[in-house]
Amino acid sequence: MSDEIIECVKCRRDFIWTEGEQRFFEEHNLNRPKLCQECRTQRNSDRRPGMRDSKTSPFPTDQFQVAKPPPKSRKPPQKHRTHHMTQPVFLFGVPAVILALILTMVLAQAFSFNTLTVWFIAINGTAFLCYGCDKLLAKLGTLRIPESVLLAVEVIGGTLGAFAGMRIFRHKTAKPEFQRRFWIIAAIQLILVLGYVLLVKP
Ligand SMILES: [Zn+2]
Repeated sequence: MSDEIIECVKCRRDFIWTEGEQRFFEEHNLNRPKLCQECRTQRNSDRRPGMRDSKTSPFPTDQFQVAKPPPKSRKPPQKHRTHHMTQPVFLFGVPAVILALILTMVLAQAFSFNTLTVWFIAINGTAFLCYGCDKLLAKLGTLRIPESVLLAVEVIGGTLGAFAGMRIFRHKTAKPEFQRRFWIIAAIQLILVLGYVLLVKP
């Protein structure tokens, strides 16, 4: 059994028939609801003002309230779910990657460094800018760059730029959980680089 979306026959709006409600309806041998709770409440109060009689209605308001699970377990209806492209991870993650790629191309044109060096400069510049931007966004109190994006930029090579941004903008330094993740990633990278330099390269 899972939550079901039903169209209200009166106001034509979708409403959720939750698992808990379905179980309640089944236990009490009630027919599946046709009206949303709003319309049901309205109808009940229109027909029997001041009365809470359960004989005339297959699902009286007060009983229905009892069957309602806490709002936490209510899932939003699928069709109204926010499109994933508008979520902050994409909103900031995609531009960050695009910026790093553009910087890489510009630097590759301007200098004769190898691709890895150019990428290293570009991603660290991007990481630095991300911390600056997020600090600004935090001050403005608006939409924020998700920590997952800041850490992802670090994972793909921007550790030094991220560290510089963190220090210079004094950003995320007071968040132990973020710091812990940041340094775990940095430690793994250090081990990989050392391992490469000491074991693979010679
Ligand atoms: Zn309705």
